[in-house]
Amino acid sequence: MAIPYLLIGKVGEDGTYLRRDADQFRKLNVTVLRQRATHVDAARRTVTLDNGSILGFDKLLIATGSKPVRPPIPGMDLPGVQPCWTLENARHIAELAQPGAKVLQMGAGFIGCIIMEALALRGVELTVVEMGDRMVPRMMGPAAGNMIKAWCEKKGVRVFTGTRVEAIEAAKSTVASPSAAAPASAEGGFIARAAAMLGLGGKSPAPPAPDWRETAPAPRGSAMSVRLSNGQTVEADLVISATGVKPNVAFLKDSGIECGQGVLADERLQTNVPGIYTAGDCAEAFDLATKTRVISAIQPNAADQATWPR
Ligand SMILES: Cc1cc2nc3c(=O)[nH]c(=O)nc-3n(C[C@H](O)[C@H](O)[C@H](O)COP(=O)(O)OP(=O)(O)OC[C@H]3O[C@@H](n4cnc5c(N)ncnc54)[C@H](O)[C@@H]3O)c2cc1C
Repeated sequence: MAIPYLLIGKVGEDGTYLRRDADQFRKLNVTVLRQRATHVDAARRTVTLDNGSILGFDKLLIATGSKPVRPPIPGMDLPGVQPCWTLENARHIAELAQPGAKVLQMGAGFIGCIIMEALALRGVELTVVEMGDRMVPRMMGPAAGNMIKAWCEKKGVRVFTGTRVEAIEAAKSTVASPSAAAPASAEGGFIARAAAMLGLGGKSPAPPAPDWRETAPAPRGSAMSVRLSNGQTVEADLVISATGVKPNVAFLKDSGIECGQGVLADERLQTNVPGIYTAGDCAEAFDLATKTRVISAIQPNAADQATWPR
């Protein structure tokens, strides 16, 4: 969630860490094991880790989050195509998304729009492709979704709605040339200039973190051609996939805990097994407002569900 802030230089990499200091978990009396849970046995009340150890529990909270959906599109394996999810992704994006670079983003949902804003502030030439008939289609109705689209277009972002990416192809010739952008000034750097140019943001963002490569040459030469369902082809140096998330529940297969898309839970976030709970992006919990089970993969939901009594 902090990666967009890293991309605009508002925080450094250490600003993306959740813990406040090295001792935080110890002070809270939490033992952290840097292992992956590979299996849960609800009947025996055990969790198996990827180092083979087996832990017993009285109560269990499943809060394994989600991962980015990878759409089945030819060309997703090309090196210039990636999600915006990990620090490694962020480093790659920071390297390629230099001022003037051609960036195409697939998906204009809630998270996609947050990434999009960071990209726009970096001064890239940005195209957004959304298969829904409007931007942020799961959260916004037609009027609001189209207002967002009009606003983005006014800021210089090219937006295609009701359009799919059909294929991504490596362009025949790729020539790297130095960035056309002038060297960044000490005051605010190119982010501030790009923001001012686009009219984005009320005031200049904070200066970039010292390790940020703002003067690196921009990879150019339109490394990829992206074919759209509307018949158009867009050239891109970088393609970012922001096409939704999928709860991390595969390790719960044969656990005895019921899953749909996510971990199924009642309105108190308890699963079908008493004493086993879920929260956050991986939870498919009963929503009192809609009387259906929903996955709500946003941070306030995770933070709110974390505080529910269990
Ligand atoms: C680029 C980006 C920008 C975002 N911006 C916003 C925003 O501005 N506002 C907002 O509300 N939301 C935003 N979000 C969404 C927000 O980050 C998530 O909703 C939130 O982090 C969910 O918290 P969580 O604890 O459920 O999952 P996570 O934060 O994903 O934590 C789950 C943890 O479980 C670990 N894990 C997974 N499987 C296992 C396993 N088998 N064993 C052990 N550990 C495991 C993972 O490694 C991870 O550390 C953004 C997301 C992204 C990617």
